[in-house]
Amino acid sequence: MKKDDHTMKEVAERCTRFSPCGCKSGSCQNDSSNSTQENVSCKFCAHYTEPDVCDIDLYREIVKNHDL
Ligand code: SF4
Repeated sequence: MKKDDHTMKEVAERCTRFSPCGCKSGSCQNDSSNSTQENVSCKFCAHYTEPDVCDIDLYREIVKNHDL
């Protein structure tokens, strides 16, 4: 599974749970605003964790579903 900066950005742009504010609920932003925000990347998400990137396992799923 790729875990480079580009892929993390692509995933975060597609992710409905991207939580840059750290609240983990995702309610601080809506889906359509993802791609317009700066620093959209799993690295800036409250769910970011090592070594699997996402603590709710969405990274793997989005990479797979979107063939990233
Ligand atoms: S870390 Fe997980 S919840 Fe956060 S943007 Fe990436 S895939 Fe989505």
